[in-house]
Amino acid sequence: MTVEMTPEVTPPSPQGDSPVAAAAEVAAVPSVKEVRSNFDEHAHRKSTFKGLLLFAISLLPFVLGYWGFVELHGWWLKIAAAAVFTGAIPALFIIGHDACHQALTPHSWLNKIVGRIAMLPGCHAYAVWDYGHNSLHHGWTNVRSKDLVWTPLSKEEYDRLSPAYRLVHRLYRTWWGVGAYYAIEMWIKFGMTQAKVKNAKTNRLFWADRLSVVLFVIAQIAVVLFATDRTGLGSNSLAVSAGLLAIGVIIPQVLWNWLMGFVVFQHHTHPTVPWYGDEQDWTFYAGQIQSVVHVELPRPIELILHNIMEHTAHHVDPRIPLYNLEDAQKKLEEAYGGDIVVVPWTLRGYFDTLRKCRLYDYANHQWLDFDGIATTPRLLQRDDAGRLVRPAETRG
Ligand SMILES: [Zn+2]
Repeated sequence: MTVEMTPEVTPPSPQGDSPVAAAAEVAAVPSVKEVRSNFDEHAHRKSTFKGLLLFAISLLPFVLGYWGFVELHGWWLKIAAAAVFTGAIPALFIIGHDACHQALTPHSWLNKIVGRIAMLPGCHAYAVWDYGHNSLHHGWTNVRSKDLVWTPLSKEEYDRLSPAYRLVHRLYRTWWGVGAYYAIEMWIKFGMTQAKVKNAKTNRLFWADRLSVVLFVIAQIAVVLFATDRTGLGSNSLAVSAGLLAIGVIIPQVLWNWLMGFVVFQHHTHPTVPWYGDEQDWTFYAGQIQSVVHVELPRPIELILHNIMEHTAHHVDPRIPLYNLEDAQKKLEEAYGGDIVVVPWTLRGYFDTLRKCRLYDYANHQWLDFDGIATTPRLLQRDDAGRLVRPAETRG
């Protein structure tokens, strides 16, 4: 991917140049209501037609790609068909994500059905996603022990790990390891096995949705092995079966998990974005405006990703349908430009974040490398009243 090198961060605008000014800013932190009042009445307007149309547009390449994979002859055509349905997995998942926020259409029952179908190709259990994403991640963005997504370890936590697990954590924060993190920590561990709540009925729903994922995978394997046309694929049936499984099931899931790890890592991890060790220090504004990164990707990729990169607006109000997000993000950037991190995506910027954001010092609010050496200035410090504020010098 060739992307022109551009400045990595839109510099925060100066809003005060002394600790006193910083404290004054905290006292005047906009409330949820104030922040959301930037959106006009169009922002929340849901449309069954738009929601279902976007679902159909995303489902079509998945179905056609699958059909092509099963019916077309020869390896090259099958690989091309698999590329088509693999590309549809994230598009469908983002439709499911919106449905799960009850934002896609005005009808809750319809959102629940569409959401479950749209999340199956990406092998996600809908009810578990609802809990982990909507309640934990959106409820407590960048708060340790609440938000489980890419939570950085402190140096002490890292040192307590076994040498093998320390190595795993080092590998997670590499350009390719982000996918391993997502597949292991978020999908297998949290999503498919460990997530659990106090409510027994919800837990049963978790397992029902996990079962639907397992059955969907079994169905895919059965189709690949027993219903796929093998004309022109060679005579060694074991090798052909292995090749088909790789192209039709394994590689699409590996690529999909990598994309998820890649995207969600960059949504809330950046050298200018802090984490919070104590929920008392966290505010709606700190979490949903200042701890979200608007990563700008090339337009064609943004289209496949259905505006999910317009992420600040999504966090300020997850009930805004994806088809209204672009406008909502613009309004927020006009209102709070100095506090919203906008990052035009560059390879250099991605590697810089991976290199600097490895461990986090929750006392001094600095990112650290794996040796515990600070890689960023202090992102937050306490004012005289004991409140955590952004130091004036980090605000441009
Ligand atoms: Zn969300």
